[in-house]
Amino acid sequence: MPTVSPAFTFSGVVTSLAKKSVAAATSFSATLDSIAGVNSVAWSIVGTDETTTAGTYTLTPSGTKGETVTLTSAGAGTAGILSVTVNGGVDPRTGSASTDMTASAKFYVPLADGGEVGCVGETTQSSTFGWTLFVNQMARRLSGLGTTVSLSAITVPAAASFAYSQAQHASAAGNTSTWTGQAGATGFDGGGFAWTGGAGGGADKKSGGMSWDLGPEDTDDDKTASAVWKRNGTTFLSLYSENTTAVLDAGAGPLEIRTTGVVSVGATGGGSAIFGAAGATINAGPTFLSLSGTNIAVLGAPGFGSGTGVIAIANRSAAPSTNPTGGGILYAEGGAGKWRGSSGTVTTFAPADPHCPSCDRDFAHEWTNDRTGEHLAVCVPCMIAEMSRFGMNVGAFAFIKSLK
Ligand SMILES: [Zn+2]
Repeated sequence: MPTVSPAFTFSGVVTSLAKKSVAAATSFSATLDSIAGVNSVAWSIVGTDETTTAGTYTLTPSGTKGETVTLTSAGAGTAGILSVTVNGGVDPRTGSASTDMTASAKFYVPLADGGEVGCVGETTQSSTFGWTLFVNQMARRLSGLGTTVSLSAITVPAAASFAYSQAQHASAAGNTSTWTGQAGATGFDGGGFAWTGGAGGGADKKSGGMSWDLGPEDTDDDKTASAVWKRNGTTFLSLYSENTTAVLDAGAGPLEIRTTGVVSVGATGGGSAIFGAAGATINAGPTFLSLSGTNIAVLGAPGFGSGTGVIAIANRSAAPSTNPTGGGILYAEGGAGKWRGSSGTVTTFAPADPHCPSCDRDFAHEWTNDRTGEHLAVCVPCMIAEMSRFGMNVGAFAFIKSLK
């Protein structure tokens, strides 16, 4: 009595009853290893993944005993268990039904990343470890998300949002999450990142913007909450919060704001703009510096005296003690307007003090010069009064009236 075996081997597979990986929608076959003692052959699909059924596959037997079967695979991420029963399941050695007359093997179409799905009823057709293969593959891939995972694309379902976060190291500095664009091939630009907000849905609906949360900052000035832009590894611009101050920091590099429009600093809401630290130079444009506003105060804030469209100059801290060259020095002193020329003469053109010791007015002209040690102050009302006393017709050139 011959030994009858239902063992078979898939086309392109070396080992009997070993599983077959097959491309999607591809014809393949299985053939009994031996037809010795075989009288009848019955092929069937006894298990599939959840997206297919036995009816998905058309089994086409061939050969003298039907010992070869041809079928076509389904799409990626599908699998099936092909079973064969010979001689109606009856073992010719005993004349009784026997499971030894049935054999099965698995075929599958890999997922895009090479992964394999399981079939209902699958035991050890894929692995001697059975279902642990699939469960453990998932566990390892989930674990692998903490290190490296290879994905061709990530699709976020509609009505969902995408969140990316990284676990904190227990006793080390935080990891840096790195998003790296592809380097360009020779002659081509490198690939950057484009972050595009979604369009708003109709009138008065804002488009979805981009939100950058720099994370909490501790209580000192570590500036840890920062966004940094680098050029080939070297920082050229940082944006960070320093306590409650937002800082745009270009380091020692120049920072240009380029626009053909207007740059407004502190415009809306009336905030103050501070240009440069103490001792810094402000370079205005090559044509003119225009300071426009309702009022302008320079060198301090002496007040505008309820005026509009006026310029206020605060008193000097220290009067000039040497002479300017190539120009003169304008300043306020005790509320008076002063001009020191390049020869050292200081002219009080807008007197405020000293008051005339004779009449107590400050309607005076005054000059001083440190080099010559001269001081000349002329009280004009007193001069006119003296002229009048000597009989001059001062009414011809002095027009005096009371404003009260
Ligand atoms: Zn006087």
